Amino acid sequence: MSIRISQIDKTYGNKGHGRKDDGRTRALEPIDLDIQDGELIGLLGPSGSGKTTLLRIVAGLEQADGGSIHFGERDVTHVHVRDRRIGFVFQHYALFRHMNVFDNVAFGLTAMPRAQRPSSGEIRNRVMQLLEMVRLQDFAERFPAQLSGGQQQRVSLARALALKPDVLLLDEPFGALDAKVRQELRRWLRHLHEELHFTSLFVTHDQEEALELSDRVVVMSNGRVEQIATPDTLYRQPANRFVFEFLGDVNRLEGDIEEEVLTCGNARVAVPGVENGRQELLLRPHEIRLDEQPSPRAHLPVSVTAVVPVGAEVRIELEADWLGEPWLATISHADFERLAITRGKRLYAQPSRLHRFDTTRPQTLAPLSVS
Ligand code: ADP
Ligand code: MG
Repeated sequence: MSIRISQIDKTYGNKGHGRKDDGRTRALEPIDLDIQDGELIGLLGPSGSGKTTLLRIVAGLEQADGGSIHFGERDVTHVHVRDRRIGFVFQHYALFRHMNVFDNVAFGLTAMPRAQRPSSGEIRNRVMQLLEMVRLQDFAERFPAQLSGGQQQRVSLARALALKPDVLLLDEPFGALDAKVRQELRRWLRHLHEELHFTSLFVTHDQEEALELSDRVVVMSNGRVEQIATPDTLYRQPANRFVFEFLGDVNRLEGDIEEEVLTCGNARVAVPGVENGRQELLLRPHEIRLDEQPSPRAHLPVSVTAVVPVGAEVRIELEADWLGEPWLATISHADFERLAITRGKRLYAQPSRLHRFDTTRPQTLAPLSVS
């Protein structure tokens, strides 16, 4: 089922009440968003950016001030939540504590008006099929308190799917779980999504989760959409500085440019094509190489303040007089060993790319050539 969100906006709090500051919060500026049938869309943004508000409006749990929502050709703007054919999963499992797993999943079906309700045999089959899908068929008799967080969240997912929704809405569904379980559930959701072909909108403030799961990501801040793009495009071609900074660790380099060389204290780097004047450039940790010597294009002396091996890479924290704040570099284990890096070691940073966002179009200087 496709979803079309047109000019949806929302301000909380009522006007008036005689107060000067009447406590109004603009939660959403007018938002437009077209979601295709079968897409998995991630809503990504910091806390307070309006993600939950938008999700609740799509669900029909919250009324927008203006705009419209279409599911396919159907205008659901004023349709009751009950009649929108959506499934929900929230961060807090919100299972019924006094019901076992089976009854939790069956709840939506057993609560249907008698005329539409499937027979108890059909309900039983459907529930067991769902429990199999989330690999909990052996847990049907258990109560929520007898399940781990990850298992409870799988029950929530099965419950949300019981009514065969056209649209699945998830609000930070894995937020309360530990990293390993989250990883497993993500793979899971992806799998179910492909198998059952519903359309999903899920909220997260975790960039890795959004990039890993989504067909497209909607990056939000302050009630506005900053960019809508595939994970790859978002990472490689961020529309603006906010998106660039939100999607990963960022190092800053500020200095004065003269004749295509940026100078900052005793540090220098070639910046081909950049006009004279004060500039701020950004680079990601993996866009720094470390060397024992400066090069003709970069003289950026740094010293190592911390070394953290994580997975396939080593994270190196760097500082220098000319740096306003520490830098983070991620390098390969091979480079780490070759350079025999220890805390206190003095090295030279070599940027492979620099990004600037002060121009009307974001610009990436890469690769930096020898000037
Ligand atoms: P997110 O889910 O991205 O953290 P929310 O949609 O929950 O953001 O909130 C967006 C803004 O609206 C925030 O400033 C929040 O404080 C405000 N807000 C959310 N719900 C309400 C409410 N029921 N009443 C008043 N303000 C609210
Ligand atoms: Mg929220």
